[in-house]
Amino acid sequence: MTSSPPGFTDRLHACGVEIARAGVEFAARGWTPATSSNFSTRIDDAHIAVTISGRDKGALTPADVMAVDLDGHALDPALKSSAETELHLQLYRRLPETGAVLHTHSHNQTVASRLFAPVGVIALRGWELQKAITGYTTHDSELDLPVFPNSQAMADIEARVDAWLDAGKPLHAYLIDGHGLYTWGRNMIEAKRHLEALEFLLACELDLKRLGANP
Ligand SMILES: [Zn+2]
Repeated sequence: MTSSPPGFTDRLHACGVEIARAGVEFAARGWTPATSSNFSTRIDDAHIAVTISGRDKGALTPADVMAVDLDGHALDPALKSSAETELHLQLYRRLPETGAVLHTHSHNQTVASRLFAPVGVIALRGWELQKAITGYTTHDSELDLPVFPNSQAMADIEARVDAWLDAGKPLHAYLIDGHGLYTWGRNMIEAKRHLEALEFLLACELDLKRLGANP
């Protein structure tokens, strides 16, 4: 870290504090089982802070967060970032306003991803909480949440995300089949708002299905 710009270590630590606080909260809500899930925030134009692979998200501390550049190189080569870091980096590179990315594996997210995978998208309509997603100002809108096939090759998932964005469609989040949710925002506050809203909306959609309702 000797070649880091002035203030970099302090900024990394501040990102670590913010990520750890969020991780502990999400774990308490049951959204990060069995060391799954990963979180990141932007340090500067060329680096992000991201959770180290395999750490218990319920006991996260700033020491569980490391710096990587936007090409995925760890600043401290002794540390290994989460397996899905590449999916975070894709969002920071393609959507430069992105300041935080959250990936969770909640029960609702995982079940909904299986249920809607054959259709490939969950069309959210008529929910007041759609307004929690940046750019949506009314319940009377359609918020399309894509469900991409899972893969252990991150490049496969990246290609799906690229294709969606290349088609010019709005994208604030996506599900991966049988896996979980990615969402992001300009900062941790916005990303967290998106995550909480989508978790709530997926729970509502699942309840409607259980009740046999078709609004
Ligand atoms: Zn995952």
